Amino acid sequence: MLIPFSLPLIDDDVIAEVNDALVNTGWLTTGPKVRLFEEELSRMTDRPVVCVNSWTSGAMLVLRWFGVGPGDEVIIPAYTYSATALCAMNLGATVVMVDASDDFTIATEQIRAAITERTKAIIPVDVAGWPADYDGIRDVLDAPDVRAMFTPASERQAKLGRILVLSDAAHSIGSTYHRRPNGQWADVTVFSFHSVKNITTGEGGAVILNLPAPFDNDAERLFLRTFSLNGQTKSAFEKNQSGGWRYDIIDQGLKANMPDLLAAIGLSQIRKYAKELLPDRRRKFELYQAAFADDSWAILPPYRDAERESSAHLYMLRIAGADEARRDAIIQHLADAGIGVNVHYIPMAMLTLFRERGYKIGDYPKTYELYANEITLPLYNVLTEAAIAEVIAGVRAAVEDTA
Ligand SMILES: *Cc1c(COP(=O)(O)O)cnc(C)c1O
Repeated sequence: MLIPFSLPLIDDDVIAEVNDALVNTGWLTTGPKVRLFEEELSRMTDRPVVCVNSWTSGAMLVLRWFGVGPGDEVIIPAYTYSATALCAMNLGATVVMVDASDDFTIATEQIRAAITERTKAIIPVDVAGWPADYDGIRDVLDAPDVRAMFTPASERQAKLGRILVLSDAAHSIGSTYHRRPNGQWADVTVFSFHSVKNITTGEGGAVILNLPAPFDNDAERLFLRTFSLNGQTKSAFEKNQSGGWRYDIIDQGLKANMPDLLAAIGLSQIRKYAKELLPDRRRKFELYQAAFADDSWAILPPYRDAERESSAHLYMLRIAGADEARRDAIIQHLADAGIGVNVHYIPMAMLTLFRERGYKIGDYPKTYELYANEITLPLYNVLTEAAIAEVIAGVRAAVEDTA
């Protein structure tokens, strides 16, 4: 049996919803399906939501909204997918990387040393769906000396009066922190609906607004909607309503809106996410967790504690004592057995672009340590229990064969 690393859920409900968009509404770009998808997301998070065409464009939109640009610094974890860095770099800002802690998220105690008077935002990442230490991060940012260092260069920066917390929640839709849903932990949260994520639209994302007073989150939502449409006050759908032709361009926005055709895919998934799809993922995650609990070589990923529960996006297993070469040999054994796995992540500081910009892996020892013996196992809704049993047996055999 061939077991791919990842497959999207394309069931009858997805097909029916896409069909409805094509046949009944006949509208392809942003319109009624996006509005419905936003309403579902808003119900889930209890916050205002703007859908966009990717996590990356959503994060760029938010950083631009906050006035981040050349000369500014944005703090990110060294252990993440490169998009976390590129959203800031593509606006001309410099990313300052902070090493990881044992649970794969940004090391809170190392953030203070990375802050300068140029720091405008921090982007914690909920790796694999495990929430970053948001309380600890806010404590660092709220320290009087750190607040005093903050030098606002835009109206919105002055209004916030401190470093913006922008959550990279590409993995963590449905995670909880202090029993609160994701979307309520950071100032702004961005989800991804790329094909491999828990809910997918093929490509897509959503921006969730949780800004403190005196910000008006509903008003900011309306602005961001316009900002994601080239700064245009009306979408094509709204202009298409009779007599609605006149519009204005009120700001230099980006083109980052989500098409209706893609929203239809996500809409059918989100309707059964909390009751069906997320519990199914968690059950599958727990099958791995239970299977490897007694294997002395297995370092199990974080999943649940008194404060947090993961969305079970990725099953990130680590092999105690393995170096990169042995980890790679285990992956080769699994590939030979038809089992697709992955590594999350090759640290950015080991990738060409970042090395050429002067980042060195030696500066992030925990990130390297986590990466060197990590293997991510298949975990998705259409994965069968028989396939999970095969993966478990395959991993055990590969670990023994390479010992
Ligand atoms: C997938 C992913 C992104 C990028 O999402 P896109 O929607 O593809 O832009 C960002 N951060 C992390 C951690 C991711 O895994």
